[in-house]
Amino acid sequence: MRWWTTYRLLRRMTERLSWPEDRLDRFREQRLRELVRFAYDHSPFFRQFYERAGIKPEDVRTLNDLDRLPILQKEMFRRADPKQVVTLPPETRWMVEITSGSTGEPLRIHRTWRDLYFIKAKVIRAFRQTGLRFYDRQVILKSSAESLTGRHWFENFGILRKYWFSVADSPEENLTRLRAIRPQHLHGFPSGLAAIADLLIQNGEIFRIPIICTGAEVLDDSIRHRIEQAFKAQVYNFYASREVGNIAWECAAHDGLHVNDDAMILELLDDQNHPVPDGEEGRVVVTWLDGRDWPFIRYDLGDRAIRKSGACPCGVPFSRLVRLEGRSDSRILLPSGIWISGMVFQELRTALWVAAFRIVQEVPKAIRLQIVLRHQPSPEEMDEFIAETRQLVRGELQVIPEIVSHIERDPSGKVRCVICRLPQAVGSPPEDVT
Ligand SMILES: [Zn+2]
Repeated sequence: MRWWTTYRLLRRMTERLSWPEDRLDRFREQRLRELVRFAYDHSPFFRQFYERAGIKPEDVRTLNDLDRLPILQKEMFRRADPKQVVTLPPETRWMVEITSGSTGEPLRIHRTWRDLYFIKAKVIRAFRQTGLRFYDRQVILKSSAESLTGRHWFENFGILRKYWFSVADSPEENLTRLRAIRPQHLHGFPSGLAAIADLLIQNGEIFRIPIICTGAEVLDDSIRHRIEQAFKAQVYNFYASREVGNIAWECAAHDGLHVNDDAMILELLDDQNHPVPDGEEGRVVVTWLDGRDWPFIRYDLGDRAIRKSGACPCGVPFSRLVRLEGRSDSRILLPSGIWISGMVFQELRTALWVAAFRIVQEVPKAIRLQIVLRHQPSPEEMDEFIAETRQLVRGELQVIPEIVSHIERDPSGKVRCVICRLPQAVGSPPEDVT
């Protein structure tokens, strides 16, 4: 009765949305202790990793002890034998989930239903906070091969019905299918949703979908506005990763994204692995407190975000991220050593003749500015666009414009507007654990 397991978890998780902060802290602390102990006792990979760092599970007693544990890089998991990482015997029936891996080799995470229940309950809780009801029709617009678990029997009874659309299909096709289904809830990549929104705006039409959740790509203000306008929707941004599922979700106050603090510990760290203060950008490192089959403890996700201080007017005690900055390699490195956040380039979206653009840095002193045209610009308009881009990189980089027919999606189906391919973008080489 998998549905009931998820439902029971969902009820417990929903109660925690109104817990007082000290209760939440005690709960997190206890879960952290249990997780570290469990991983150490059952996963040869983790035991070896901690032994090498001179750490015993009993060294982690409070949340403040978390920084005694070494940070885990994706590369270490990639190189490890999955049988050594997992905490269950080899004869276990595994479901293998493959992370997209926009750069490098994908990671093959082994899961059982147990961890998937937790992932599902967590995201359903977040969806419920946006107003999703069990009998709503939900359309999911992502890359084609997304669902690990397939269709659930309860969907046949109209509960949490999901319809999968692909961003690889044209916006015209997706709009036609949307008209046929008339969902109350739409969840997808911002680029795919914006393409449908632009089609509606072009036609002077509105197609009402009350709740739209975005995720997987950076949502900037211009895209959010177009989606709100075309669908007359409330837009909620979500932050998730393949490894640990939903991480943070926007509440009805629309003032940042709540981190699932009961299910994970999210740290934002600087290059020396020290925590950054609220309001400053840092590297996202997560500890997934619910995950047992394949533990994620101080796992470097390769994303960047900023935490917001203060309590949310909605009353949920979970901390908030003010802004998601995308991946570490969604920034541009200036010759002076300064990193420019990919988010600053959203200012360029005001140029009406530009349908889409992407900035790619492959060499230290120049960037390629790829442009998809809405219509042909005048030479002055083009010059102005290049000058603006050059200004955003403080005049330090040469800007090489390039007209393209479309912006390519990365292997996971996502569109990234800013990509840095310099070796520095990936960070320092990971430690050797073999
Ligand atoms: Zn809130």
